[in-house]
Amino acid sequence: MSQKYDCLVIGAGFAGAVCARELAERGGKRVLVLERRGHIGGNAYDKLDEAGVLIHQYGPHIFHTNNARAYEYLSRFTGWRDYQHRVVANVRGALMPVPFNLTSLELAYGSEKAARLEKKLIETYGAEKKVTILELRRNDDPEIKALADYVYENVFVHYTMKQWGQTPEEIDPNTTARVPVFLSRDDRYFQDAYQGIPALGYTAVFEHMLDHPNITVELDSDAADRLCLDGGRVRLDGTPFEGTVIYTGAVDELFGCCFGRLPYRTLDFRFETHGVEWYQTHGTVNYTVSEDFTRITEFKYFSGQEIPNATTIVKEYSRAYTGKNGEIPYYAIISPENNALYQQYKALGDAVPGFHLLGRLAEYKYYNMDAIVVRALELADRLLATETL
Ligand code: FAD
Ligand code: UDP
Repeated sequence: MSQKYDCLVIGAGFAGAVCARELAERGGKRVLVLERRGHIGGNAYDKLDEAGVLIHQYGPHIFHTNNARAYEYLSRFTGWRDYQHRVVANVRGALMPVPFNLTSLELAYGSEKAARLEKKLIETYGAEKKVTILELRRNDDPEIKALADYVYENVFVHYTMKQWGQTPEEIDPNTTARVPVFLSRDDRYFQDAYQGIPALGYTAVFEHMLDHPNITVELDSDAADRLCLDGGRVRLDGTPFEGTVIYTGAVDELFGCCFGRLPYRTLDFRFETHGVEWYQTHGTVNYTVSEDFTRITEFKYFSGQEIPNATTIVKEYSRAYTGKNGEIPYYAIISPENNALYQQYKALGDAVPGFHLLGRLAEYKYYNMDAIVVRALELADRLLATETL
């Protein structure tokens, strides 16, 4: 083949970076990565701010997984700082663990009533069980129903309205199921076997992953300006491109939103640096009944940096994505209608030989980082096993 590259990867987030590395290293392919932002790492990108705090530019990222392959794969490129994420809800000034657990129950009801409720809940669902709020609300027992209403009102409904502009009943049930009521005193946000923060931060992971003689990364390079899918053929900079293309951006954008825009939520991040050692008691505080923002995260809990006179926090404000002003589509709004619209776009991508849609945006899914790493590794497995790259 006379062309300079065998494979083209659009996007240098987890989906693109893992695929690029695998195709370059395992497949010996020459890979070109195009990234529209001025940096690698996608939404996991982190950097030092003016106070020297390692901040997550696109919102708080905590790595957690039960998948040994994902953990071991990333461990090739980073060591880990042991970190167990703990979150509290600020409910009219009182702090209680989220996910709502047996400690939260005691804080809400006092020890005597909580003990009675705990017994009833464990008889009904089992000890250490996770029960979604929607499931708890279907229970007919008056006491459990009253508890479900309490949790719904104080933890879920206002936060979900802020985050999605819809109630818990209106959004995809898998979303609130991410934060179930937990019949346990384990107050960690995640119970996964592997959890942590990359020892030198996320950007360093991407630097190592993309540091391979077969990989070329071009930043500030938007595929919209360079890639054309024309009659089922790929053209790069106007020239036909023969080979594998992995696209990790928003799929509606790729096809000029020809069927209409896929709905997303975007976020505005307000960073603040305060001249104190610590701003709050936990890595993240969710504002479940008050404020316009959903949560405040304090980054030094993640990085473990010892900076006595400064700390940086971020407040997250969610709103509808309009596709204008450089907004970033952070969350797909999963629904049967939106999934059907997505399938129309996917069919256009599937019709192009050698073209693959991968990642949270390109697949229009609510994937965590580990899920993306696994999907990228599996796509690379399939390509290396079957396709003439
Ligand atoms: P992205 O990281 O979005 O990367 C896609 C890349 O493609 C971007 O760099 C983008 O600029 C680029 N791109 C798009 N279009 C084009 C184009 N036309 N041309 C060139 N480049 C293009 N997951 C966890 O596991 N734990 C967490 O704690 C966690 N917290 C999160 C918090 C927030 C606020 C958000 C939004 C997500 C969080 N996630 C978390 C999810 C995590 O961000 C994703 O799973 C992961 O970043 C997805 O990787 P990706 O490569 O699919 O997408
Ligand atoms: N949620 C809530 N209250 C909380 C935490 C979560 O209502 O205190 C709901 C809300 O709908 C949110 C979803 O659970 O969008 C998933 O929460 P998660 O923390 O997993 O969201 P992410 O970190 O992905 O933004």
